[in-house]
Amino acid sequence: MVSEEKIDKFKEAARIIKSAKYLVVFTGAGISAESGVPTFRGDNGIWKKYDSNVLTLSYFIEHPEESWKAQKEFFDIILNANPNYAHIALAELEKKGILKSIVTQNIDNLHQKAGSENVFEFHGTMKTVTCINPRCMHKYKTEELDLTNLPPKCEKCGSVLKTDICFFEENPPEPAKSLSFQEASKTDVMIIVGTSGVVHPAALLPVTAKENGAKIIEINPDSSLLTIYGTTDIFLQGEAGEVMKKIMEEME
Ligand code: NAD
Ligand code: ZN
Repeated sequence: MVSEEKIDKFKEAARIIKSAKYLVVFTGAGISAESGVPTFRGDNGIWKKYDSNVLTLSYFIEHPEESWKAQKEFFDIILNANPNYAHIALAELEKKGILKSIVTQNIDNLHQKAGSENVFEFHGTMKTVTCINPRCMHKYKTEELDLTNLPPKCEKCGSVLKTDICFFEENPPEPAKSLSFQEASKTDVMIIVGTSGVVHPAALLPVTAKENGAKIIEINPDSSLLTIYGTTDIFLQGEAGEVMKKIMEEME
């Protein structure tokens, strides 16, 4: 049962979204949970099976095989995953001209699969890999690699290949990072979907938006650091697909 107070919040959120001049959506792993892609900090998921450092750069350099094992498992999941209602609704809002851009921390390509076009991948992508040899840095498409023997090696120089996702101890890739902060400064309404708000500097995007006067609407089944520290103005508690459905209904 949805309480009266909750219904009013959906109405209010829908009204704010409709009147937005420059709507930006900021997404995290939670938006893809209903597509069967495990989040980082959830209880179930592949990240519990491996050393928590598998996505830390120094660990990767020393243990590329172990890191690649976890990444390959994740890559197989996202290759087969389909966008859920939340991804699709956001793509629809872009087509209607209401949503201007999506800044995502995700590396699963599900916004693009849903048809969103203006997507900034704040933490890079798993679609490509780069040779770690600074004198080579040759790029390959991940799906064209033979991943039978891990880690995959560069055909040009024999060095280890690394996916183009942002590891811990790395800076987010440019120009995605600067462009994302530009979007956060421009927006007057930001919807945050499914992020815990603990990964930096990504978590500063909603803070930047708020400092520039934006209204912040957050969708998450649980409170995040952004809810707890008051960055969020309207907290819509629930799963991304279910909440987006209610918002879309209110907007009709
Ligand atoms: P996180 O794992 O730290 O937090 C996930 C958040 O999603 C939590 O706050 C959780 O309450 C919420 N959530 C869970 N189910 C949800 C649902 N159905 N609807 C809405 N919200 C839901 O994720 P994060 O904040 O994105 O940070 C983790 C980092 O790991 C990110 O930088 C991201 O790049 C990476 N990551 C990406 C993916 C992906 O591409 N799908 C998956 C795991 C991790
Ligand atoms: Zn090379």
